[in-house]
Amino acid sequence: MTTTPTQKPDPKAPAPLPERLYLYDTTLRDGAQTPGIDFSLEDKLAIIAMLDELGIDFIEGGYPGANQTDTALFAEPRKMKASFSAFGMTRRPGRSASNDPGLQDLLQAKSDAVCFVAKSWDYHVEVALKTSNEENLACISDSVAAAIAAGKQAMVDCEHFFDGYKANPAYALSCAHAAHDAGARWVILCDTNGGTLPHEIEQIVRAVCEQVPGSHLGIHAHNDTEQAVANSLAAVRAGARQIQGTLNGIGERCGNANLVSLIPTLMLKPAYADLVKTGITAHGLERLTHVSRAFDELLNRAPDRQAPYVGESAFATKAGIHASALLKEPETYEHVPPQTIGNIRRVLVSDQAGKSNLISEIERAGISVEKSDPRLDTLLRDVKERETAGYAYDAAPASFQILARQALGSATNFFEVDSFRVSVEHRHNAKGEETSVAEAVVKTIIDGKRIMSVGEGNGPINALDTALRKDLGKFQDLIEDLELVDYKVRILNGGTGAITRVLIESRDRTGERWFTIGVSPNIVDASFEALLDSVTYKLLKEGAAS
Ligand SMILES: [Zn+2]
Repeated sequence: MTTTPTQKPDPKAPAPLPERLYLYDTTLRDGAQTPGIDFSLEDKLAIIAMLDELGIDFIEGGYPGANQTDTALFAEPRKMKASFSAFGMTRRPGRSASNDPGLQDLLQAKSDAVCFVAKSWDYHVEVALKTSNEENLACISDSVAAAIAAGKQAMVDCEHFFDGYKANPAYALSCAHAAHDAGARWVILCDTNGGTLPHEIEQIVRAVCEQVPGSHLGIHAHNDTEQAVANSLAAVRAGARQIQGTLNGIGERCGNANLVSLIPTLMLKPAYADLVKTGITAHGLERLTHVSRAFDELLNRAPDRQAPYVGESAFATKAGIHASALLKEPETYEHVPPQTIGNIRRVLVSDQAGKSNLISEIERAGISVEKSDPRLDTLLRDVKERETAGYAYDAAPASFQILARQALGSATNFFEVDSFRVSVEHRHNAKGEETSVAEAVVKTIIDGKRIMSVGEGNGPINALDTALRKDLGKFQDLIEDLELVDYKVRILNGGTGAITRVLIESRDRTGERWFTIGVSPNIVDASFEALLDSVTYKLLKEGAAS
């Protein structure tokens, strides 16, 4: 399009549609409030990588200074496409920004953005903050100014905004104004109690948009009436252009707005897709099912089968009386095509959908395969059988890759384990304290040569790992930098018939991380299987010749 120099753009003209909508993930901060969830630094780094691959705009890492994990996370710059955000309080009442150590720590954290939490309900200013309404406004503007001066993008989460607005609209609005006027890029309206209903959200956000441009407003909704997603969408309809939420909707009480449900709705439903555009690509959207399930596995919990869009049952239709129509035109029974979010249609008979998913996973692993290769059918059957037995390949791409390579005929048998043995001895040491020591013996065969190594450890798995990796003959140099960073155990289907699933996360000096899996009624066997896969993956990665 060309314009003559005399034609200036009309500043009052509405922004062209679709407008950019920004997604802000707070899984690692607000999501970490979920009862029973406690992220390690390793977990946080793995989740950041997933979110970044998806194409989320802002990733909030946590609350630097609040605990060791978060302090360590923000101690060094993290490489990612997304803007990395640190969360914290505005300056304390009665102190200057430069004289508030908490605020200074927050500004020193290695982040691109800072999200401040501020009171916006006068009742809370008086009762919780115990300060005047004016001083609270000054805390907001001073903190925003300090963050901008420190070279960061500033945001303010207006806590209890909707309840505050109902009680005293003028004051709630002046809090939003204070943040925006001081230069905050985003003013986020929070439904902290999660009790506000969609029509109220829409009405109030519309009113706020009259005062602060919607392009600078965000929504942070909690799920206490199971409407956090609906409330976020209502805010977008009213003009807000940032949504804060979490993976799979985790969060305190009933959770936060679920980004995994919001993303496909925003991208696939014309009412939103015509209005706004997110930073997620079509490819990112196709990874959504995988990310949602891998995240649950990382939390060591079973993915919700009925989760909208990504659940295993989301596109499972029982044929019933419509069997023939369903099989002829399954899309007439689906509200969106399942493959757009990386999910698959489950109807009896057809395995086609499962197969194309399998092919894309194989290609993702860097293996080329002909779509007509008959070995794919065997692999698909094998994967299904194994998943029924308890394997979860979404959580263990490295093990999947080994399985696929084996099925497609490439060599992965670098060494053979002839036998292993492990024993645990519980005894009193010289000081009379109770200790337990594990000892393992592993016999491997490499190039026809038998190698026996012995290892000790603080437990049977540790001892086996030590023994296996002590002497791997000609491969020893290649695995020197292999390091196990995480080990997760889940007991499936309980009772006496219980099956143990072990997930191991490994890394090496390149920083690459990989996940492997083992399943067995016996925890030692399951662990050893995952361990062997990890070593095999490392050898594949190093291009070892068998
Ligand atoms: Zn929250």
